[in-house]
Amino acid sequence: MTISIALLNIIITVLILGSVTLAMFVIAKFNLVQGTPETKKLLETKENLAPLKAICSLAIGGVVYAFFVAWTHFSPGGWIGLVLAVLGIILVGDRIRRKRFPDPKAKSKRKIKEKNVASWDPDETKPWCWHCQEHTRPNGKNGCSNCRGSYYRMNVPIGDRKAGYGCAGCAVVPLVIVLCVSLFGVSRDVLIGLWALSGFWFLIVVGFPIVFLYRYRTWMKWARRRQQYPYGTDPEDLEEEEPPPPVVDKRDGFLSDEEL
Ligand SMILES: [Zn+2]
Repeated sequence: MTISIALLNIIITVLILGSVTLAMFVIAKFNLVQGTPETKKLLETKENLAPLKAICSLAIGGVVYAFFVAWTHFSPGGWIGLVLAVLGIILVGDRIRRKRFPDPKAKSKRKIKEKNVASWDPDETKPWCWHCQEHTRPNGKNGCSNCRGSYYRMNVPIGDRKAGYGCAGCAVVPLVIVLCVSLFGVSRDVLIGLWALSGFWFLIVVGFPIVFLYRYRTWMKWARRRQQYPYGTDPEDLEEEEPPPPVVDKRDGFLSDEEL
């Protein structure tokens, strides 16, 4: 009986991870995210839509099963591992997609008015606009005075850092407590219950430190670059000001060479 459940768990794990990997592969290959030109084209032509829909539905089913059903027949450790594996595949797949298809809007030059900037140098304690990528001044509603973005676009890096560490602690502490408790002789059933509870808590809370620390890391990357290139000297910005010359179609050249 135990062997059959173990086998069932292995088969389900392979199916879930396989379906999620396949879906992320397809998403990364064809840039299948709402609003991208590739997706729009696909929706217009309707070609190959059915298999893609089937793959994505299968993966969504797998994710839902992994999160909400699998704990009923997995060991707590196995379930947490499964959920983390699913999250890992999604994160890596999305990263690959973003590398392959960088958002053209993200690269477009943002107009910065000098009077809206509080500091051209990185300063952890000053608000920073996610959109303008500068320490812009907050307006009356704590939004960005330069792009008029809402409050959510502005963040103070030092606040993100502290909140990130605090939330990471909140997520991990119950796990550590259960680990300590498990060193004493506690009955198996109680232990499984505690692991499941703390694992569930971890999964609910772990999103917060990820968001905070991701935002802090984005600012950090910008700050490092700004320290290397003070405002106005970054070669990447200078390039953007002058649009690159149109790409010459080399095929014509090759053809005329052949004709000669
Ligand atoms: Zn802004």
